[in-house]
Amino acid sequence: MTAFPDGFRWGTATAAHQVEGGNTNNDWWRWEHAASGTVAEPSGDACDSWDRWAEDVALVAGLGFDHYRFSLEWSRIEPAPGEWSLAALDHYRRICAALRERDVEPVVTFHHFTSPAWLADMGSWEKGEAVDRFADFCHRAAAAIGPLAARACTINEPNVVSTAGYVLGVFPPGVTDPGRAEAVTENLVAAHRRAVDAIRAAAPDLPVGMTLSMTDYQPLDGGEERTAHIREVHEDVFLRATAGDDFLGVQTYTRMLIGPDGWAGPQPGVPVLPMGYELWPDALEACLRRAWQVTGGSLPLWVTENGIGTDDDGQRIDFVAAALRGVLRALADGVAVEGYTYWSLLDNFEWAFGYRPRFGLVSVDRESFARRPKPSARWLSEVARSNRLP
Ligand code: BGC
Repeated sequence: MTAFPDGFRWGTATAAHQVEGGNTNNDWWRWEHAASGTVAEPSGDACDSWDRWAEDVALVAGLGFDHYRFSLEWSRIEPAPGEWSLAALDHYRRICAALRERDVEPVVTFHHFTSPAWLADMGSWEKGEAVDRFADFCHRAAAAIGPLAARACTINEPNVVSTAGYVLGVFPPGVTDPGRAEAVTENLVAAHRRAVDAIRAAAPDLPVGMTLSMTDYQPLDGGEERTAHIREVHEDVFLRATAGDDFLGVQTYTRMLIGPDGWAGPQPGVPVLPMGYELWPDALEACLRRAWQVTGGSLPLWVTENGIGTDDDGQRIDFVAAALRGVLRALADGVAVEGYTYWSLLDNFEWAFGYRPRFGLVSVDRESFARRPKPSARWLSEVARSNRLP
């Protein structure tokens, strides 16, 4: 079987801080300029999408995608606590309107890794106040863009915010304390629930859900208990928090082999990507099946991110084709997957890795910001238009 069900949705994604440039008022900008040296290079101008967003919209529409997932930069909309930038809200409303004009549905993420600098000063996600502040922001932003948006994603990968920021220390605030991460997880779960309510109150017709990072954790001999623990703290606690949502976004990049002491690293013989993990496209199918099983099939799934950071664009096509064959197998077994969103539209700021890994369907010249679609863009465009794999 190579055909996707009628009405299957195809799109691509970006996130504000990774493409806009000049987001000087958030925790990541500070982190990029901190002495810790954990970020390869600062985000700087990124892809200059704050100014060049119309080019991005034209690219997405020109490639024939039916949706574009992008995020709101909280620090631009609420530059100081309780101080709202109507101009910034209007900026995002214009993006939504331009997408609608081209028959592309705006899928809007309300938090994609970055928080305003003032929230960081208040203790960020370790403090319950962050939950209230985020709910206020969601209400305000949903009231502005809700009528134009097609779908709302609350917090992008809350599990990565918690683990990368508070266990591994590679995201701000750079903490390495699992005890503190537990409190953060609790607040992120609460923030998601409050965000769902706030968005529904402001925009009752807007479907809303969480987007979760999922990895195909495979236990090695003796790694069963550890795998169960990782699944619980990294995925299941968040999956339980999706009850009552309109959809669940699954975001998958790889598998991880788990031994008694945790990740056993890449298996010899399996290619390793610049991000340091295995090239393993089948992970997507495994994660969709697991999300479906843990949530009891109670809400439809979307692949809100899947992609590969590589300089070899042919490898990108092979990766996506293999991942999509997995989606077809899951669909054939009754897993309700409604859409596929490739990460990312553009080569962009890949957080701690800087601009080195290239996830884009479209390259961006680092000096002129000129965008050039790669062969993979045309390939995925054809898949989207025909709604089938070649
Ligand atoms: C994030 C993106 C990131 C991508 C590739 C996801 O975890 O949501 O912001 O660029 O993975 O690493």
